[in-house]
Amino acid sequence: LLLCFLVASTEAEYVKYKDPKQPLNVRIEDLTSRMTLEEKIGQMVQIDRSVASAEVMKKYLIGSVLSGGGSVPAKEASAKTWINMVNEFQKGSLSTRLGIPMIYGIDAVHGHNNVYKATIFPHNIGIGATRDPELVKRIGAATALEVRATGIPYVFAPCIAVCRDPRWGRCYESYSEDPKIVQAMTEIVPGLQGDIPTNSAKGVPFVAGREKVVACAKHYVGDGGTTKGINANNTVIDRHGLLSTHMPGYYNSIIKGVASIMISYSSWNGIKMHANRDLVTGFLKKTLRFRGFVITDWQGIDQITTPPDANYSYSIEAGIQAGIDMVMVPYNYTEFIDDLTSQVKNKIIPMSRIDDAVKRILRVKFVMGLFENPLADFSLVNQLGSQEHRELAREAVRKSLVLLKNGESADTPLLPLPKKASKILVAGSHADNLGYQCGGWTIEWQGLSGNNLTKGTTILTAIKNTVDPKTKVVYKKNPPANYVKSNKFDYAIVVVGEHPYAEGAGDSLNLTIPDPGPTTFTSVCGAVKCVVVVISGRPVMIQPYITFMDALVAAWLPGTEGQGVADVLFGDYGFSGKLPRTWFRTVDQLPMNAGDPHYDPLFPLGFGLTTNPTK
Ligand code: BGC
Repeated sequence: LLLCFLVASTEAEYVKYKDPKQPLNVRIEDLTSRMTLEEKIGQMVQIDRSVASAEVMKKYLIGSVLSGGGSVPAKEASAKTWINMVNEFQKGSLSTRLGIPMIYGIDAVHGHNNVYKATIFPHNIGIGATRDPELVKRIGAATALEVRATGIPYVFAPCIAVCRDPRWGRCYESYSEDPKIVQAMTEIVPGLQGDIPTNSAKGVPFVAGREKVVACAKHYVGDGGTTKGINANNTVIDRHGLLSTHMPGYYNSIIKGVASIMISYSSWNGIKMHANRDLVTGFLKKTLRFRGFVITDWQGIDQITTPPDANYSYSIEAGIQAGIDMVMVPYNYTEFIDDLTSQVKNKIIPMSRIDDAVKRILRVKFVMGLFENPLADFSLVNQLGSQEHRELAREAVRKSLVLLKNGESADTPLLPLPKKASKILVAGSHADNLGYQCGGWTIEWQGLSGNNLTKGTTILTAIKNTVDPKTKVVYKKNPPANYVKSNKFDYAIVVVGEHPYAEGAGDSLNLTIPDPGPTTFTSVCGAVKCVVVVISGRPVMIQPYITFMDALVAAWLPGTEGQGVADVLFGDYGFSGKLPRTWFRTVDQLPMNAGDPHYDPLFPLGFGLTTNPTK
């Protein structure tokens, strides 16, 4: 009798969805069949960490939390602080009736960029210049480890935008203007998530365990094609153009098992992507057979504002019916939950749509092993900013540099620079500024200025580390020409560029290098042999000055490992980077991309001089 009782009670406790030996679909079906409408809608909701708590997770059955654009527990929070925070929210989710774990997401777009002491890799434009998919895969793997080191299993990356106009303030988040280069760089997806098994069905998401993260290809689709590069604006292009220019990165990401895709704020021919049922449900889910989940951008639903009388209910209906599965409603989540619940109860939105959304979210949570391992431990904390990752970032910097000019002719190159000299000048606003090197999406959403934001090496420090110990390095931010002339320098290195910016604030119609950049390089280069290193998220106005410069290097936004710049300037390694985008002569040529009629750039896509290493 006792035995019968024991068997009966174990059987009663056996819950299929909790059993990792059950096939994926059995687990998904079993769990959804047990869920109430409230539990289902909760899974679709993602809130910002600043409003999250264990109680909120439990009470509202919330399925996901994010750190939106630098929403961090504290600026200098350690990996352990992050883990404790994430686990605290998780415990709230695990204490719900069905114990469905929440998934925490963050913008790790060039390394784990919100987190103090993390390795910051070059922004995507620099990675595009390397033309090295194997490198970007290793960067993905390192990023995954650093993100997991802080207890986080989900990143809003990669950005696979094909930026067609550098006036867009997110151009640096794009690998290239060329869809083929962007497509090749989707190798970051298996770097982040792991290599998809060869027998996987197309479109099925794949994430290989606790040292990998869920990736998110963004922003679907056409984000880089807006008129004049205005952020979140309208992309005017025919269907063929959309599919051949902006879609190829998605084909490849899906083949590689990308687990989530974020919708773009932009519109395609006047229709908001967040409300585009044809492209989200029709093309992405049906034609491409994408089986992961579709997430909105930050308050993306709120931005569905057409027709003119659209109210919040209408926007929710349009977004969910378009095929959105998870909704970033950072703050006003109760309003969203109430409204969506009543729309389902009133049969405005069918239950089948909610089930589709929830099954996709649960599929990813099951596949990644979140049910088996919902809580993070401290086993990976030493991965954050590790020496190995810094070496990798330094390698990426070396390979990302594009040499645009080197002496008046090939016979009179200035680079590589001699390490032995009596006295050299380092000048410019960007020579000793880690924040400028890292650009936007670093610790803060719009980026920072200065050297205290995180750990890293500025270009000035890197130069000092590299030259012969007897070489005197003089650093002057903005020296006047007569000072330079009267000082007998062997040569000068001038580092200037753009100040950090992110979406919106970075849109620019003139693309000039801000003052005093041009003043610095004209006065220095007029007085001594000089190499100008430009730190920028895109090509900038350089044509009027280029004749003054003896050498010119595009260094993009290299991140924390400034040593990579000195490695190449002084010939420990050769220059090998190729322009990931067209360098314009004047802004009135824009948009201008390779293959356009009347293509007349200052430097074409793919341009890049080379040097040989000196050792
Ligand atoms: C950006 C996304 C980002 C999201 C979350 C949005 O403003 O467009 O790229 O992933 O914020 O921070």
